[in-house]
Amino acid sequence: MTTRYVSDICRITLDKKGGSRYSKMSFPIHCGHFTEIETDSIILHFNLNGEIIRARGKGMEWTHPHEWLKRRCSNDWVYYSTGGYTGVFEATGEYYLPNLQYPTNNMLGGDPFAGSEVHRIVNQWYTILSEISSNLTDLPEPIHAFLQNSLTNSPEVLARKARNLFSYIDGRVSVLPPDARHVDYNLIPLTVAKGCLYKCKFCRVKNSTPFTTKSKSEIDTQLSQLKEHFNNDLQNYNAVYLGDHDGLMANPDLLHYSIEESYNIFGFKESFLEGNFIFMFGSVTSLQNCSEQFFLKLDKLPGLKYINIGLESADQETLDLLGKPLTAAQIKDTFLLVQDINEKHSNIEVTVNFVHGDGLPEKHYPSMLELIRDTQHHVKPKGTVYLSPLKFGAPSRKRLFEFNRLKVLSRFPTYLYIIQRL
Ligand code: SF4
Repeated sequence: MTTRYVSDICRITLDKKGGSRYSKMSFPIHCGHFTEIETDSIILHFNLNGEIIRARGKGMEWTHPHEWLKRRCSNDWVYYSTGGYTGVFEATGEYYLPNLQYPTNNMLGGDPFAGSEVHRIVNQWYTILSEISSNLTDLPEPIHAFLQNSLTNSPEVLARKARNLFSYIDGRVSVLPPDARHVDYNLIPLTVAKGCLYKCKFCRVKNSTPFTTKSKSEIDTQLSQLKEHFNNDLQNYNAVYLGDHDGLMANPDLLHYSIEESYNIFGFKESFLEGNFIFMFGSVTSLQNCSEQFFLKLDKLPGLKYINIGLESADQETLDLLGKPLTAAQIKDTFLLVQDINEKHSNIEVTVNFVHGDGLPEKHYPSMLELIRDTQHHVKPKGTVYLSPLKFGAPSRKRLFEFNRLKVLSRFPTYLYIIQRL
């Protein structure tokens, strides 16, 4: 039940009910249940474990009332800017542009963390919370209990909790699939395999681990640790990421098992959020290895499953330059296989990535257009194509212009892939 407390200095709303589904809107919709503290100058949101999850300033120094700071379960702060709304949705498929505090391949955006108000909130939210708490007296018991609990979650404790999370899943997630944007990257990571098959030369997110699959008992251990970790806030989740770089290469039975068990153990049936999502990466090899039976069963398991495959290029010279040990013929065959899977299975969407950037061989874009335009007679609703800028830390108007040209020519939903970690 929602409990509200109002004083001269703040308003506190416990168990505030946000949206029940992720929607793509040009104003912020905060999903799930949370606690809100509002003063004249700031709004703070806390999850059901009393951990800070969002904040924004209310004064003149805050750029736009629709912009927010968000703290992910990995303890990264992300600044969501409107980007002036010019072209952000067309480029990313979302109305808000995530600005990150670590190097990535974003071609849009600025440096909001350099702004004094954003800096103040990221670094002083806990002091602000402590001051609010110490200035309130005669509090109703639920409000008092909330403040006591949230004060136990200091920045140091939140950093330690994030490190614990990484230890449960065998290391930090260096990159999430682009499709995770559909749940605003609010997902529970479960590692079903480690490493990848190709170790491509160009890749900035790979690890040195040879590909290995987790066992059923390792999955069970992770599930129970994750259940305890996310604790009361599990009800605000409805999505799982099956990591890491080639989850699809894991044993097919283990994948089915992981999806079923996570649905049951995380209690997604009782989630505050509608729907249920599974995200993973695959590769040309793992997708080609999957049987029709595997996809038939996957389609029937709970949730929409998104599988993202890095194709990178349909041009041999480009593949060689990238150090991707595949042939252009394999890429083309896989692209056609992707369309076949997307046609046949309504609860599965396989999406693909191609690289985008300066200095690529001249056949890269024409060979890509042969796939994303010439193989289709009509516009397709599924099978999103993501263009992944090769350069990190280099926003570029010229590249954005080229992306827009490719997007117009493509017969698939086509967006930029902004690399985000967890
Ligand atoms: S692009 Fe994918 S397959 Fe290649 S090294 Fe990176 S993670 Fe591995």
